[in-house]
Amino acid sequence: MCGIFGIYNHRDASELTYLGLYSLQHRGQESAGIVSSNAERFLSKLGEGEVQEVFSKEDLIKLDGKIAIGHVRYSTYGASDIRNAQPIVVKCSKGLLAIAHNGNLVNAKILRNKLEKEGAIFQTTTDSEVILHLISHSKEKNIIESLKKVLPQLKGAYSLILMTPTALYGIRDPYGFRPLIIGKLSNSYILASETCALDIISAKFVREVEPSEIVEIKDGELKSYKFAHTTKRSLCIFEYIYFSRPDSILCGQSVYNVRKNLGKTLYIENPTEADVVISVPDSANSAALGYAQISNIKFDFGFIRNHYIGRTFIQPKQKIRDFSAKIKYNPVKDVLKNKKVIVVDDSIVRGTTSKKLITMLKYAGVKEIHLRIASSPIISPCVYGIDTPTKKELIAANYNVEEIRNFLGVNSLYYISLKGMIESTNLKEENFCLACFTGDYPI
Ligand code: AMP
Ligand code: SF4
Repeated sequence: MCGIFGIYNHRDASELTYLGLYSLQHRGQESAGIVSSNAERFLSKLGEGEVQEVFSKEDLIKLDGKIAIGHVRYSTYGASDIRNAQPIVVKCSKGLLAIAHNGNLVNAKILRNKLEKEGAIFQTTTDSEVILHLISHSKEKNIIESLKKVLPQLKGAYSLILMTPTALYGIRDPYGFRPLIIGKLSNSYILASETCALDIISAKFVREVEPSEIVEIKDGELKSYKFAHTTKRSLCIFEYIYFSRPDSILCGQSVYNVRKNLGKTLYIENPTEADVVISVPDSANSAALGYAQISNIKFDFGFIRNHYIGRTFIQPKQKIRDFSAKIKYNPVKDVLKNKKVIVVDDSIVRGTTSKKLITMLKYAGVKEIHLRIASSPIISPCVYGIDTPTKKELIAANYNVEEIRNFLGVNSLYYISLKGMIESTNLKEENFCLACFTGDYPI
């Protein structure tokens, strides 16, 4: 899970990239970086932590030039290390190149071993650097021809933004696992992971980069090339459930509306009467609201979330029970005491968060807890760029719903059906990757 942004032809390119990354912060908080091009050289600033920690006003002034790309990173493949921060810059046979990647290659190790045997020296442990090496090694002089040779060798998920000193490229893998969109602001082009990054700079949405497409933005124009055939679209359905911001539009569907539909479907599939509907904020807010609206049970804030837990937070020496959940969530006793409560969450991964939250609700004096999950049971790990644990740690891979209900200590537990989850998106099943719910991997 990462966020990427690029802008072409704007005198405040790095400043707008900073704003774009700010609105994509939810996609990664581990590191952030911007590389700008002033047509002759690249300037870059990368650092650990959130966007506002990494860049100062002075940094943005130094990052001059009319093209810039940026990245916020959430580590998956490749260790958590500042050397793995992106965008990655190289000077190679094709000149200066910078790359920002969202996704995960499933054949990165094989490609990397092959390149190393041929003498390539890697600076990072990311699979994104593999792509740069392949471009550098390709015999084609022209960047588009080189991409057409290199991209079909990559297997897995990749939405890429590539920058040369005078051009910007947007690329989406043939399956379209991760989003990538095109925007416009006067005579400037923008590439970004999500539409919320266009809203913050008042840019207009143009269209999505299609699976198997390379868009080249050069000499003031946008050109489109295909590098493969798309046989199976596989947009990650988790983008709707959890990753994308609810104010983004993805594949023509408002993420907010999809989440509300998920909540409505949860009620329709398993109507349960109660005194109040609460959410696990913020990711389940819209689903809980959908549940409340269709059921006519009032929605209330049962948990207050603290948004200010930074990277440098000092863990207490003294052991405090359920601390990792307590620092983030606190129950509102007035809303909960002696109430029959519907709790809506977007997903259960390991089950540890839910377990702690349920304990907190019991302390707050609830009468009954009915847990409703706006995604189907996660039974298989993701290999396409989402940080999910191994099968051993995925609670639904090892226990059935009744066993999970018992472990969590709730009166009832209901997960939305796979069919209901897909229908809530208003899109057809064939558009999606559903591998973590079905174990059926598109690649
Ligand atoms: P767990 O304690 O592992 O069951 O975590 C479940 C919670 O983590 C849910 O409430 C989700 O909102 C959130 N979540 C789901 N998937 C991810 C992910 N890949 N990375 C971080 N948080 C996630
Ligand atoms: Fe998304 Fe799950 Fe597919 Fe990974 S396996 S891309 S999280 S739907």
